[in-house]
Amino acid sequence: MKEQLYTIPVNDAFDADTECPVCAMYDKLESDAIDFVMGASYMEDDVRMETNKKGFCAKHLPLMYKNQNRLGLGLMMLTYMDQQLKEMEKLAGKKRGATSWFSKNTGGDPTAEYMAEQQCTCYVCDRMKHSYERYLITTLYLYNTDSAFRDKFARSKGFCMKHFGELHEMAPSHLSKSNLDEFDTCINRIMVENFRRVRDDLEWFTDKFDYRNADAPWKNSKDALIRAIQKTNAISVEEKAKK
Ligand SMILES: [Zn+2]
Ligand SMILES: [Zn+2]
Repeated sequence: MKEQLYTIPVNDAFDADTECPVCAMYDKLESDAIDFVMGASYMEDDVRMETNKKGFCAKHLPLMYKNQNRLGLGLMMLTYMDQQLKEMEKLAGKKRGATSWFSKNTGGDPTAEYMAEQQCTCYVCDRMKHSYERYLITTLYLYNTDSAFRDKFARSKGFCMKHFGELHEMAPSHLSKSNLDEFDTCINRIMVENFRRVRDDLEWFTDKFDYRNADAPWKNSKDALIRAIQKTNAISVEEKAKK
């Protein structure tokens, strides 16, 4: 079966005024995944089996708490904890293994290994993973085949550091050789130009704290710190200051 392409959400993200269109797509997928798990689906056996096994990561659990469905989250956490109690009972009967090169961080200790693994598994992350990859592939597919999209890409405000790296890494598998050279030139240019723009906005943001600049205009700097956080760390801070 041919894998689906998501040309509409990708075009929408590149039409939006954002410091990183990939972050915008990720945020939408994330809020859809949270709405899904906090909706009626958490009562479904197959979903609950997965949430009991994987739990949630440090980023997504607070977002789920914010969703206000306290009973839903309570029930999911309750059966997750029941499952983890069973795992701990099983682990209590296991001996520490010999330290190997592979397990040097946990010393071959099955409990340490299991607990470390639980810190990185997340039902919400896993639910988004496939669509997220398809969004990146669609972005590169459109760059390769659609000249109107290439223009749009070139006029965008670049990306955050994380997604800049991911697009760079995936590009050779999805672009023709000639398009790859053009892509590298284009993405490197928009990344540096826009990173510098946000950096300069941030500099004025800090300069505004100088009493001598108190009455000077903010220019584009009022939300510079929020945009700098997005550019460097792919984090969308919610409170957008008014420009
Ligand atoms: Zn991003
Ligand atoms: Zn997660």
